[in-house]
Amino acid sequence: MTEFNAGQLRRVGQVKEVTSLANPIVKDIKALAQKKARDESRSFIAEGLKLVIDAIELGWTIRILVYAKAAKGKPQVEQVAARTVASGGLVLEVSEKVLSAVTRRDNPQMVVGVFEQRYSPLREIRPKPGETYVALDRVRDPGNLGTIIRTADAAGASGVILVGETTDPFSLETVRATMGSVFAVPLVRTNVADFVRWKAESGAMVVATHLAGAVDYRAIDYRRKPVVLLMGNEQAGLPDELAREADALARIPQAGRADSLNLAIATGIMLFEARRHLLTLDADA
Ligand code: SAM
Repeated sequence: MTEFNAGQLRRVGQVKEVTSLANPIVKDIKALAQKKARDESRSFIAEGLKLVIDAIELGWTIRILVYAKAAKGKPQVEQVAARTVASGGLVLEVSEKVLSAVTRRDNPQMVVGVFEQRYSPLREIRPKPGETYVALDRVRDPGNLGTIIRTADAAGASGVILVGETTDPFSLETVRATMGSVFAVPLVRTNVADFVRWKAESGAMVVATHLAGAVDYRAIDYRRKPVVLLMGNEQAGLPDELAREADALARIPQAGRADSLNLAIATGIMLFEARRHLLTLDADA
């Protein structure tokens, strides 16, 4: 890769300086707050220099790098700008007003990346012994989904499978809640019928969680096969068509008056229990 710095890029006209909210590229980036624009362009926004660097390191394609004038000259920003141009992306040096507008924040991060969305096809997911996946039935809340992706990453899960109509994993709110893990955890989207077919062929054990589950989640042997933890929708819980696919229906015993746990909390408990059995979590870490 040819190494340029942003000063050189500016001289060769590859860094565009933008201060106007009426700039068409700025308008396109702003539109990425809407799902329709994200779907059409198959791109999304991620905020923060570290996160953008990590994403590029992990092989994600950056389409546009946006940075604040105040970040000009910082070596890491210059390097990211050079890498963006080298991979065919665009670099914008903008006013804070523009950054606030694209991120919809009063105190925006200095650096924002527009990345290509990426989903893994379900047929390519072949769970191996020792692996754990999370499958989410119609997850609705962006904060829950982001937290689950982050927790799946931290627990060493191999992927998150979105079943049915779900909130968009690439929305600003979800990406923020993942704290960068959206770039580390493979995401799959599917429907109930394809999930059921895949389950039959995958060789995985589906542990579904249900308030009326017959088994205490601590009594399950998670080592027998690769595990798919299947979690129900926030309002409706798991529908029968999915619950009957489960090899075990697990319940997390509760005390007190709460009738259920928050979906992301329940997923975290299940993930760390399953991973604990697989002894992949370093007790000294
Ligand atoms: N009203 C819903 C119901 O009746 O199932 C509550 C859904 S709960 C907020 C969302 C999901 O988190 C559930 O479908 C289940 O997957 C999981 N969950 C929450 N608390 C649980 C518990 N105590 N045991 C097992 N799963 C639980």
